[in-house]
Amino acid sequence: MNLEKTPGLYIHIPFCLSKCSYCDFYSSTSISAVPDFLNGLFKEMEMVRNRFNPFDTVYIGGGTPSLLSPKQLENILIKVRKNFDLLSDAEITIEANPADLNLSFLESIREIGINRINIGVQSFDEEALGFLGRRHSVKQALSAIEASRKAGFHNIGLDLIYGVPAQNIEPWLDTLRQALAFSPEHLSCYQLTLEPKTPLGIRRQAGEFSVPGEELQYEFFMKTSEFLEEAGYIHYEVSNFARGEKHTSRHNQKYWDHSPYLGLGPSAHSFQSNQRWWNHRSLDQYLSSINAGNLPVQETETLTIKQLRLEALYLSLRTKKGVYLEDFKNQYAYDLFTEKKELLAKLEEEGFISIRNGFLSPTQTGLAIADSLSLI
Ligand code: SF4
Repeated sequence: MNLEKTPGLYIHIPFCLSKCSYCDFYSSTSISAVPDFLNGLFKEMEMVRNRFNPFDTVYIGGGTPSLLSPKQLENILIKVRKNFDLLSDAEITIEANPADLNLSFLESIREIGINRINIGVQSFDEEALGFLGRRHSVKQALSAIEASRKAGFHNIGLDLIYGVPAQNIEPWLDTLRQALAFSPEHLSCYQLTLEPKTPLGIRRQAGEFSVPGEELQYEFFMKTSEFLEEAGYIHYEVSNFARGEKHTSRHNQKYWDHSPYLGLGPSAHSFQSNQRWWNHRSLDQYLSSINAGNLPVQETETLTIKQLRLEALYLSLRTKKGVYLEDFKNQYAYDLFTEKKELLAKLEEEGFISIRNGFLSPTQTGLAIADSLSLI
């Protein structure tokens, strides 16, 4: 199914100094466990070595990978190269918190081969940062981006969040303007979503505040898209924008086009052929499996051709490129164009999709309702 595609490697660093109030990812604040985690991670690499073709991306995510020292990050990359084949032009990304970034750290990680940095800025509005429980200030975010350029990063991504309660469009556009002042190669703009068990989710359920309704969310989405496209960015996925094709995230693309990927570390997911598996979420369980000589896999699922097809449709309709109908037909034995002819014609007439040069692609309005579109 995906044997031809080049796989990517994801490494989950499950530590954060403090938890952000909206966060639902797995991470621990017990930083003293970092050395044990690294030992476990290196053992996991040995257990799964040579199971994938050469990787052309490594994504060190989390959690907060920038909490590790340059030496620890270097050791990770040394072990990656020892256990796996890595193509020479691999995209190697690190996620970072602005509070951890100074010139010396950035120069060191650039030297060990990390060539892309994704900085969790989230907002240039101090009040919004406080509400989200971020541990960095606006000033730290500004100097982190500046220092990243100075250290030689030519591929900088900024993560931003919109739809914070009481925020309206203008302050959000201000955040975008401040981001654009640095000409970042990549921007991820996420709408704030609150899972019920997070501190903000609990406060919301208790009626302390409300989040923007559907209409305002749509306005945020469309204004963001128009604003960034006017500034020369490609809106290439629901939440992602790149300053030209070559700056789209090569790694994230793999999740959207069913390329294989290997995930290492607690809670990391992997995908190959028609199998998906994921690791134990808790660091303790992850380490005890590994230390007992077992893979730390919590569960594996085998996807049927129908599940793969629905997933492929869901994922590709979140991208500007969309679905290449001929490939889709060959891969999933399903002629989408013929089977859904009338519905597609209606969606095209209503301006949600376009069918051109063999591609079925969402329009900008279509991207705003991508999840519903995928139900065709
Ligand atoms: S830094 Fe990221 S992973 Fe850590 S608590 Fe905040 S949002 Fe979650």
